[in-house]
Order: sequence, then C-alpha cells, then structure tokens
Amino acid sequence: METHVEGKKMFLAGEWVDGKQWIDVIDPQDGSLVDRVPAASKADMEACIEAAKAGAKTAARMPVFERMQIIGKAADYIELNAELYARTISKESSKTIREARKEVGRAVETLRLSAEEARRITGETIPFDQSPSGQGRVGYYRRFPLGIIGAITPFNDPLNLVAHKIGPAIASGNAIIVKPATVTPLSALMLAEAFFHAGLPEKILSVITGRGSEIGDSLVEHPAVRMISFTGGLETGLSITRKAGLKKVGMELGSNSPVIVLDDADVEDAVASSVSGAFWAAGQNCLGVQRIYIQSSLYETFRTQFIDDTERYIIGDKQAEITDMGPLITEKEAKRIEQLVEEALAKGAVLETGGVRDGAFYSPTVLTNVPENCTLASEEIFGPVVLLYPIADLDEAIERANAVDYGLQAGIFTKNLDHAHRAIEELEVGGVMINDSSDFRIDAMPFGGVKQSGLGREGIKFAIQEMTDTKAVCFKLG
Ligand code: NAD
Repeated sequence: METHVEGKKMFLAGEWVDGKQWIDVIDPQDGSLVDRVPAASKADMEACIEAAKAGAKTAARMPVFERMQIIGKAADYIELNAELYARTISKESSKTIREARKEVGRAVETLRLSAEEARRITGETIPFDQSPSGQGRVGYYRRFPLGIIGAITPFNDPLNLVAHKIGPAIASGNAIIVKPATVTPLSALMLAEAFFHAGLPEKILSVITGRGSEIGDSLVEHPAVRMISFTGGLETGLSITRKAGLKKVGMELGSNSPVIVLDDADVEDAVASSVSGAFWAAGQNCLGVQRIYIQSSLYETFRTQFIDDTERYIIGDKQAEITDMGPLITEKEAKRIEQLVEEALAKGAVLETGGVRDGAFYSPTVLTNVPENCTLASEEIFGPVVLLYPIADLDEAIERANAVDYGLQAGIFTKNLDHAHRAIEELEVGGVMINDSSDFRIDAMPFGGVKQSGLGREGIKFAIQEMTDTKAVCFKLG
C-alpha cells in the first residue's frame, strides 16, 4: 500500500497538499512523535469551500450506481489494508490494538451500508386530490442533496466517526469537507486515501487538517456550507450552533450514560457488559457507562463482582495483544480525570478500586457513595471512572437516570417485560438497550441524543435524511 499520509499532506478537493505550518501527532502513551500534518490556514479552508461548490455539482450528477461502486471500493481498500489502519488508529489515539481493529471492521461496515443505502434514497407519491384545490393533479416528492456538508469530528473514533460523515454524504450526492480532530488526523487522511484510490472525482471530498479554533469558524459560518455535521463535546457544539447561521446542524454530543440493574437480572452478564461499557477506549466513549443503578438486594453481589472484574483489567502498551486498556488521549486529560475523582473523594465518595494516575494513564476506577453535588455525578467524565448506586426500585432508577442534562443511550438489565417497557417509555434518551449496557450500537441503527446530548440522528439511513432535502413535484393534468 502506498501511503500519502507519511508524506504529511492533507487532502484538499482531490489533491494532496503540503502545509506551510505543521501540527505534531503525538502518541499519548510515551509522548513520541507519530507523524506531522499540515496546520491548514483560513485561506486553505476558503479554497476548499470554493472547490466544493463545483464538487457538489459533480456529486449530485453522479449516478447512484457509481456512488455505490466508489464507496464499495473504498470499503474494500480499507479491508485489504485493515491492519495498517488499525495500527495507525492505535498509534495516534489512545485505543488498544484490539479496540482499533474493531473500529476498522466497523468503518468497513459503515461504508458498505452507505453504498447500499444510496439505492434507497426515494420519495413517495402525494395524493394531491385530498384537498379540493389539488383536484386534477398528480405528483410526488424526492430527496435532493444539500450541496456542501461541513463535518467536524472528535478524537475517540478517528476512523469510523469520519466514515459516518463521508459515507452518507457521498451516497446522497453531496460534497463534503472534513475537519478531523487535531490530535488524531491520520486515520481520517487514510480514509481520504481510500476514496482517492476508489476513483472519487476530485472536489467532492476534502480532509483538511488544522486546529478547530483557527479554521473552524471559516467552515461553520460560510453560507455555501449547507450543513454542519458535528460530533464532539457540548461546549464546542454550542459554540458551533451559535455561529452556524441559517444552515442545518447535526449535533452528536456527549453523555453520562446510565445503566439500571434490577433484581431479576443475570448478574454475571450485567457485570461483564457494564465493565466493558465503562472502560472501553479508557472510558473515552460517548456511550460509555458512567452511572449504574443497582436494586438494593443485588447491590453487594454486583459491587463485588464489578470490582473483581475491573481489577483483572490489563493496562499498558496499546500495541500489545494482551492489553485491555490504554492511556487517555493526553496527560492533560488524565489530570482532569484525577481532579474530578479527588473532588468527589473530598466530598465523601468512596474509592472502591483504581484512582491512580501515571502520565497519561489512569487506572479503571470504581466509586460508590458519590454525592450528587460532585461534578462527576452530573457531568460527562469521558474517562475510566464509573459510579455505582443502590436503588430501591425501578421508579427511583428512572428518576435518577433522568436527573441529568444529557440523554444519549441507557441500558437496563431485567427479565421483566413490563419493567423493560416502562424504561423504554420513560427514560429520556435516544436509545434504550435491554439486557445490554448503554454502550451497544450497530452502525445501521438511528443514533443520537436528546437534551444536551444532541440534535438529529446518524446511522446511515438517518444521516442521509439529514443530509438531503425533499422537493415536491406536482403535475397539473389537462
Ligand atoms: P471537542 O469538542 O473538543 O472537539 C471535536 C472537534 O471539534 C475537533 O475536530 C476539534 O478540533 C473541533 N473544534 C474545536 N473547537 C472548534 C471550533 N471553535 N470550531 C469548530 N471546530 C472546533 O471533542 P473531543 O474532545 O474531540 O471529543 C470528545 C467529545 O465528543 C465527548 O464529549 C464525546 O462524548 C463526544 N462524542 C460524541 C459522539 C456521539 O456520537 N454523540 C461520539 C463520539 C464523541
């Protein structure tokens, strides 16, 4: 595989372009230099948007079978070079090699779904004569691309979350400009490389590397960009929403997801799913399990098993096959987690296990007795820390699960159908997983949050709806 990434170029409108200034990509595990990418300027962004205007016309005219072929070829390219993609993810981010391989597999699936959904972008006929004024008319609506999509993505899934923007955008005939996370740009550039090899016509796709604070506004505020599809933190999301003006915004934001374990649950299953959900990607996961509400009669059994399983986690070298959990994305992030835990302990929380920082590493941590006035009781932790609470019954669990500003996904472990249905009805979230933790997703399902967790939905079919507009057509018959 020839790679343009080592050439440290960004992909602007179909060309590999050098920068005048650079951003170092650092391995958080040991501070070593992985690579360097251009720090794009506002002028680079302007040029990208100008090119995308032409790209949007090309994309919209591209027949569906060609879109399907190109996206399919990009998926094949990634599959063929899967291990190189996985090594890159694991090097530039904080994922272990096993987590990175899983992400590569999902990105291939995301692209194949995108190719497949392209053929299902349909409309429906409209019975115009339902209104007296519509008599003697027939018609339909169809979906049309918006034009240019601006995509801004986070560090924690540096390949698949970018695939979730590019796949549906191209499937639905849009041009797209991606600004990947500053700390993890290499996987996104490698995704551009897959589309370059797949023969995507130029100007349809750009992956522009740089700092959000420097080039973000030029993308977000530009009137020719018809949608900002953002995945990232609440603060950045709010700032983008304020600046975007009259364009669509898709907001995939954070959460502090709850899991409810009722007394009829399969405890071993609930513990295994919740431990994995809490510590996947060192807890840097929008769906990560943060708050677990356990019915009192099960609490002691669950707590003991949860701590046992947590203590078996192997922390260390990301690239080693045996490692379960790597570092946080930066040492600064690990220090932020350390401070949140210290604040909770000072307010009376009990440290059951973990609580140790070593550089960018933070050990998997279980807290109990966490007072509601601690930051980590109500805010997103985005690190390997989980809170266990005993609850009397489902009423209390639902009330406490909902008592936060976020609502992405929730999990409930129970064999009681009535209880499961009540959770589905009453939990204020974008998805409820029965007998799974909050951390369960397939890439085809509708995905997104309520409250401060976001606006709109991803999951290919649903992203395509967001990235298209309907156009109504009416024939007046003679
Ligand atoms: P972040 O908000 O710090 O950064 C996200 C992106 O925004 C990056 O590309 C960054 O460079 C860019 N950015 C920063 N300032 C900007 C500005 N002023 N204008 C435009 N762009 C700007 O988020 P992060 O730390 O990379 O990711 C972690 C967050 O993402 C967590 O809150 C997590 O829950 C959330 N997330 C949500 C989902 C979801 O699907 N709901 C998925 C993954 C991550």
